[in-house]
Amino acid sequence: MTSKVPEKYDVAIVGQGPAGCTLANVLGQYGLSTIILDREASAYHLPRAVAFDDEVMRVFQSLDLDDQVNAISEVGGDAHFVDENDELLVTWSRPQRLSPNNWYYNYRFHQPELEDVLREGFLRFGCVTARWGCEVTRYETGTDEVVVHYLDKDRNESSQLRASYVVGCDGARSFTRQSMDSDYEDLDFAEDWLVVDLLAKIPEDDADPGTYHFCDPARSGSRVFVGRSRKRWELRLNPGDDPLEITKPDNIWKLLERWTNPDQATLERAAIYTFRSAIAEKWHSGRLFIAGDAAHLTPPFMGQGMCAGIRDAANLGWKLARVVNGDAPASILDSYESERKPHVRAFIEMTVKMGRLINRTASTLLTGAPVEDDNGPPTITRIMPTLGDGLSAGNPNWRGHLFPQPRLANSDLLDDRLGNRPALIVSPGFMSDLPANVREKAEARNVAIIHEACEELTAWFTQAQTGAVLLRPDRYILGSADTQEELEALIEAA
Ligand SMILES: Cc1cc2nc3c(=O)[nH]c(=O)nc-3n(C[C@H](O)[C@H](O)[C@H](O)COP(=O)(O)OP(=O)(O)OC[C@H]3O[C@@H](n4cnc5c(N)ncnc54)[C@H](O)[C@@H]3O)c2cc1C
Repeated sequence: MTSKVPEKYDVAIVGQGPAGCTLANVLGQYGLSTIILDREASAYHLPRAVAFDDEVMRVFQSLDLDDQVNAISEVGGDAHFVDENDELLVTWSRPQRLSPNNWYYNYRFHQPELEDVLREGFLRFGCVTARWGCEVTRYETGTDEVVVHYLDKDRNESSQLRASYVVGCDGARSFTRQSMDSDYEDLDFAEDWLVVDLLAKIPEDDADPGTYHFCDPARSGSRVFVGRSRKRWELRLNPGDDPLEITKPDNIWKLLERWTNPDQATLERAAIYTFRSAIAEKWHSGRLFIAGDAAHLTPPFMGQGMCAGIRDAANLGWKLARVVNGDAPASILDSYESERKPHVRAFIEMTVKMGRLINRTASTLLTGAPVEDDNGPPTITRIMPTLGDGLSAGNPNWRGHLFPQPRLANSDLLDDRLGNRPALIVSPGFMSDLPANVREKAEARNVAIIHEACEELTAWFTQAQTGAVLLRPDRYILGSADTQEELEALIEAA
């Protein structure tokens, strides 16, 4: 009797949450044979995230899913931090206009709907296989591949598959992270909060796009509305609160009576979550990687947990494609952790500061955050961390910055013109004609060239005081060039 050789994939993704589904779309675009498993029998329909940002919308655009995501989202507004008397302490400004990424600063959405869009997205690709009811139980890591052991719950049998790489997008209790012996580094915030979702009885056309954080020492809380009907409150549990008692409907309505009542809305669900801040010590061990909540956890005050997982997928996806296709050495995968870790840490640290403000345990309003005093209440502007050390070429100035997405001279959006190719963006003020060897190499390496005058590009190059930049497929800058030698070094590294 011959034993069956387990099926083989380029990449196995464990977990069909937002991080795993985004990665499956990225890998599908590059044509990598990919399998995505989840232990649940079907999609997890408990809403968690309600907001994402312009950079994440740009990732959805790169996956050609922006129309579908736009159809289930709406533009969000500022976040206001108010004290126990509803006096405004500080506003986190999220203007309702297009950002340099050419999307709005903040969007509201219902997480199960977004996950459905992402799943329909990866099913466009014949090279992506999805399976529910498959719980990964063991990895056997070899030099060339990983054997993934899983329990197929439908068949009630143990099964195996082989993959060149495995990415565990398997959430906060990640089996993959534990298999890598990677502990969480605790970033000093762990609190139990009650999360309540209501449905308005009469949908509202003018639901407030703003978020409110109630910085009330008696009971901290946050409130955000999603669409015409959905209303979310998040309320901190105080010492002595009994989780079983506090989640009883009568007690929930008592907690919400300041804002609403059962005549206005129905209770969709209430759950207690521990809001934690942590980063995994190791994100990668041999052929095993982790992404999303498996790699980092943040309280939701900035709406950045899912966003970080989507950035992980955008960073790791194109690198895996390069390595699997033999276009780059496996060592480029080391840059995934070194680039992403400091970036997500900056968001988590800012979120923890916001948490301390909401809890009124901080001595100042968001110590260290940029605060403008324009004779009104102080305003926090957003943080835009750069990537940590990693891939680099040419002149390191501007390396690791996300390049904006201007409209080009013919009014195309930059990323629509580029697709998922790297791109050399050259200021016409730097060189009127590109050297032939640079053009030839760009063509041979499938690097797009943008060498045209348009208002937004000219403004960017003027303030950046550089002549050219090389963009990676995730639209972060690999390096810049102020001389022809640096330009050649950039194109060599593309
Ligand atoms: C109340 C609340 C509000 C939030 N608000 C926001 C917000 O506004 N904006 C934002 O960006 N983020 C927010 N977040 C965070 C966001 O919801 C999470 O960061 C995000 O869902 C994590 O996605 P993920 O794909 O990494 O993991 P998950 O969504 O947890 O998915 C992990 C998947 O892995 C599967 N799995 C686990 N183990 C195995 C195994 N052994 N084998 C097979 N499958 C396995 C699970 O079944 C699951 O489907 C919020 C979170 C909470 C709790």
